[in-house]
Amino acid sequence: MQTQIVMDTFVKETGGYAASQLEACTRCGICAEACHFYQATGNPEFAPVWKIELLKRAYEQRFTFSGKIKLALGIEKPINDQDLKDFSKIVYEACTMCNKCSMVCPMGIQLGPLIHEVRTAFSNAGLVPDDLMAAVNKQVEEGSPLGVTDDVFADRIEWVADEWEVEVPVDKKDADTLVVFSSIEIMKFPENIAAIAKILNTAGENWTLSSKGREVVNFGFYEGSLDRTKAFMQKLFDAVKELGVKKLVVTECGHAYDALRWTSYNIMEVPVGLEITHIAGLIGEYVAKGRIKLKANVLQDGVVTFHDACKIQRRGGHIQEPRTVLNILAGDSFHEMSPSKEESVCCGGGGGVIAIKSADPVRYAAFGLKIGQMNKIGAKTVVMACSNCRLQFTDCVQHFNLDWKVAGLSQIVADALEE
Ligand code: SF4
Ligand code: SF4
Repeated sequence: MQTQIVMDTFVKETGGYAASQLEACTRCGICAEACHFYQATGNPEFAPVWKIELLKRAYEQRFTFSGKIKLALGIEKPINDQDLKDFSKIVYEACTMCNKCSMVCPMGIQLGPLIHEVRTAFSNAGLVPDDLMAAVNKQVEEGSPLGVTDDVFADRIEWVADEWEVEVPVDKKDADTLVVFSSIEIMKFPENIAAIAKILNTAGENWTLSSKGREVVNFGFYEGSLDRTKAFMQKLFDAVKELGVKKLVVTECGHAYDALRWTSYNIMEVPVGLEITHIAGLIGEYVAKGRIKLKANVLQDGVVTFHDACKIQRRGGHIQEPRTVLNILAGDSFHEMSPSKEESVCCGGGGGVIAIKSADPVRYAAFGLKIGQMNKIGAKTVVMACSNCRLQFTDCVQHFNLDWKVAGLSQIVADALEE
């Protein structure tokens, strides 16, 4: 039954575009070296091309003459339940959907979106790992994978406003801009809320949070469910319409930014005229226009570096803005990791991987690459604009007993604001 659902989804999803991509693969293996999970472990099953093997096999067996012959002669076996189990583990536990592999493929194959299609088939067939599915269900039932219910949201925002003595408007009627935090920020990095509020207030932004559209994380997108991806984004667009705002700012969450900024337009109706941006982009705009001024050279405690989040920098394009900030705040102490910017190495925790306990060994192994990059430049402070990356970094700092300081971009900006 599950096999049938997976096969049906593959057949439905494999239109001309996907088929041409699958046909174009020469099996050169170049994509393998781009994947941090493969690099860190040497496991051939973690090579990006292997992650789409099931999709390729299904396509060949269903649509190509050679595939049908191989099947008839017993050279290839039909896809079975064990294949599904094995591949579910690979595409959810050892892929962060970072899309670096797509950048290196000489045939221009978009591996990331194809792997997402495999996740979609598994989601339809109920083959999502339990931990990840529990978080999805929590987002469906409570509006948040980390239990940020209406009451928890109201309490946390009130507490942040009191604790950090900052104005945090909620459901403000004539606001221009809706800001949406992730529950990771609300529950684990509440100082981010205060920091971003301080930046927006200093810049004179007419902004608000929404009590109805209050969760930017999209676990449906991690899972690969089209319906739930849309449903979670619809809540935000409903809030946009209700408040009449013209701009939606995604705070420090990479996957949510990817879903809202790029995917939403292809799968649903986005409110006309709505600008969707990321807080890193907004900070860059404020600095460029002089709406906020930053104290120079306040970060002088050793080498400072920036970790590029796959979804915000590589996919999102906000590469320059954090560097403009760090050049002001750290001056000559700011050093780049290598590789960086659009070629950055993923932290290993994105794409829902950090939510799956059984993925811990590969997640920690992949982080070994980040340790190597940091050590090479002697960095002790690392800044980033994604709270999911930050969660991975803070967890790994503890796990590997590292003496690093891990900071959010908004936090260092807020701390350096000229009054
Ligand atoms: S780099 Fe491209 S062509 Fe080569 S194996 Fe990977 S997907 Fe196939
Ligand atoms: S998207 Fe990233 S994690 Fe997934 S296979 Fe490609 S390089 Fe590896």
